[in-house]
Amino acid sequence: MTFLFNSDAVRGAIFAEAFARELPDLPFSMDPAGVDPDAVRYLITWTIPDNLARYRNLEIVFSIGAGVDQFAMTALPPSVKVVRMVEDGIVRMMQEYATLAVLTLHRQMPAYRAQQAACVWRPLPQPQAAQRRVGVLGLGVLGQAVLERLKPFGFPLAGWSRSPRDIDGVTCHHGADGLDAMLAETDILIVLLPLTPDTRGFLDAALLAKLPKGAALVHTGRGPQLDHAALLDALDRGQLSGAVVDVTDPEPLPADHPFWTHPNIVLTPHIASVTQPDGAARAVIGNLRRHFAGQDPVGLVDRRRGY
Ligand code: NAP
Repeated sequence: MTFLFNSDAVRGAIFAEAFARELPDLPFSMDPAGVDPDAVRYLITWTIPDNLARYRNLEIVFSIGAGVDQFAMTALPPSVKVVRMVEDGIVRMMQEYATLAVLTLHRQMPAYRAQQAACVWRPLPQPQAAQRRVGVLGLGVLGQAVLERLKPFGFPLAGWSRSPRDIDGVTCHHGADGLDAMLAETDILIVLLPLTPDTRGFLDAALLAKLPKGAALVHTGRGPQLDHAALLDALDRGQLSGAVVDVTDPEPLPADHPFWTHPNIVLTPHIASVTQPDGAARAVIGNLRRHFAGQDPVGLVDRRRGY
């Protein structure tokens, strides 16, 4: 029985050390070419290797990242469990990024940056937090953690998910009707949805038109969820006032893409949150212990839903 680590050597060394300390009886390999394929029961990887079929006794594939949209699920036998990364570092970093983005938009930093560049010293009218409604698409691990972190600022908070949720201090919506109701009352929209067939292209012109005029977007889901042309059009018409965009399609954007220079877009290179190797090793070891005890791992993916 072997755990195969299929990622970069720096992270691998941290995993190897944690496995040797915490699970000394479980052989750990970072060498796909040298390992006995029949011994591999557990695999951690970013993408599904082409030669996956050689691991005939595979039980669990762990994603090194928070999403599993990069996995070709059809390549995986139905019996194999797929587990996404749920670890403290990812959660903490997303809380930081979303807070930074909401405050950037709320306190009009893009406008002040433009004024600074033009040597203009002019206070702008400033709505109070109680008048700035923040809505989150996706009420999973990250959506809920972000809402929790935003609570002390006093923004009216709302969220939307597929199934009904009940979160203290958050107006929760679900399903198609719930989406329209939330969008109509959202001044800053944060996207924390997984990329699935249902959410690909989800942030389109029709959705952006349902936000109040002058609303803003924080896109921290996955690039292919956003229609770039629709965002640019909404910004240029004033339907949206600004956007903080961390994920795009493609990544990186080509040098001539209008997002780079748009005055009302803050663009970051998919860094909102990044898997931290020590936390990831702890999370995977914890999940293996759960598996050995007959429990489901934390972050088990429903392969039919795709998240
Ligand atoms: P999660 O725990 O699986 O939560 C996903 C949430 O989205 C759930 O509330 C789910 O609804 C909702 N959802 C999924 N499909 C939906 C649909 N069609 N309609 C309505 N709601 C839907 O995921 P997470 O850990 O919070 O992560 C969310 C996503 O963040 C990841 O998949 C990834 O794309 C993104 N992410 C980005 C970065 C970055 O650096 N930019 C880093 C990490 C993660 P239910 O509650 O009803 O199931």
